[in-house]
Amino acid sequence: MNFCVKCGANTVYKVPPDDNRFRRVCRLCGHIHYENPKIVCGCLVRSDDLVLLCKRGIEPRKDRWTFPAGFLEIHETTLDGAKRETAEEAHAEVEIEMLYTQFDLAYISQIYQFYLADLVGSFAPGDETLDVQLFSKNSVPWEQLAFPVIRRSLECYFSDRDSGRYKFRHFEIPERASWTTI
Ligand SMILES: [Zn+2]
Repeated sequence: MNFCVKCGANTVYKVPPDDNRFRRVCRLCGHIHYENPKIVCGCLVRSDDLVLLCKRGIEPRKDRWTFPAGFLEIHETTLDGAKRETAEEAHAEVEIEMLYTQFDLAYISQIYQFYLADLVGSFAPGDETLDVQLFSKNSVPWEQLAFPVIRRSLECYFSDRDSGRYKFRHFEIPERASWTTI
């Protein structure tokens, strides 16, 4: 945000009047560029006793396994976004069961929301996906998962599945180091 989105002039990083946080402010027209966290939504897709994972075809974490997920679009609900990402990345249709895990990654200003969903029909890799497979608890490539949010969600899922009680969980991750404590 070095240039104003309204007029193209240079911006300066400062606290605007009547504010208490630093913002990018246009030197010419005074437009204030507010920045807000990004939301990533996706699905933990299950099929009978198995879970669906996608092998990433793009960076970051290329060749590692993840849920079908991506950034929420403007004017889109998280549920619709989760279904859209699943259709794009795994060519899979799903029936949503419940909002299952949420991770507030404050240190990178991202919020992840994963829905628990049931696979309906077939699946196949999308453009940004190298492979899609169903895994049992024992065959999950635990050492090849793309992100901690995936590992933690899978741990919750297999634990809940064993107990027969599924419940929503919300994790607050203020610092990268906080991952070691949850
Ligand atoms: Zn401007």
